Amino acid sequence: MLTAFADKIAARIVGFCAVVLIALAATAGIAWAAYTDNMYPTQYANAGCFSEEPNARQSTCRTDNATLTYYMDSGGEFELETPDRDDVRATMSSDYNPTDLSVSYDSTPSFSGSAETDIIYQEGSADIPSSVDGMTWCNNASDLDKCDQQYVRIRGAGSYTRGLACHETGHAVGLVHGNVSSPMKTNTDTRLGCMVTPVGSTTSLGSNNIENINNTY
Ligand SMILES: [Zn+2]
Repeated sequence: MLTAFADKIAARIVGFCAVVLIALAATAGIAWAAYTDNMYPTQYANAGCFSEEPNARQSTCRTDNATLTYYMDSGGEFELETPDRDDVRATMSSDYNPTDLSVSYDSTPSFSGSAETDIIYQEGSADIPSSVDGMTWCNNASDLDKCDQQYVRIRGAGSYTRGLACHETGHAVGLVHGNVSSPMKTNTDTRLGCMVTPVGSTTSLGSNNIENINNTY
C-alpha cells in the first residue's frame, strides 16, 4: 500500500517535471522545430513585400491573416476551365483547409479597400517567364511582410495541376523554395512537399509546410 502510494507520488513528480520542461522549451522557443523554416521572411529571403505588376515581379510576401479567401477568374483572357478549377479546389480542400488557415471561396471578389479577396487564380501565359509554368505576385502589399491581395497565374494546356496550384498557393501564404529556407535545402528536397521545384502534378502540401503555416497563422 505504501509502495503503491509512493509510486503514485513519484509518477506525479515525473509528470510535473515533464510539464515544466515543456513550458521551459516553449519559453526558450525550441518547442517548435520544423524540418526547415520556409515561411517568409526567412534568414535568406527577407527583401520586403511590395505591390507589383506581373512583368516586374520580384518580391515575396505572405498573406495578411489566417482568413484566406480566393477567387478563380470566370471570364476573359485568364479564365480557368473546369479541369483548372478542379485542381485549385483540390489543393484548397485537401491541402490548405486542414491547416490553421480558414479557407473559403469568394464568389463576389473584392479588388479594392483594405480587405480584398486574398488570392485571384488565373490561367494564362502572359508575362510568365519562359523558365516556369506559374507565378505568384502581390497586387496590394499591406506592410513589409504581408500582402492583401495576390495573383496566381498558371499556364494552360496541361500545366495546371493540383501540385502546381499547391506550389503557387504556398508562395501566396509565404512559403519559399529550399534554397532560401533556413537551414537551406536543395530545391528538390522532397520534405519541402509541394514547394519543391519542379513540382509533381499530384504533390501535396506535406508536413514541413503545414508546420510552418500553423506556426504563423
Ligand atoms: Zn516557386
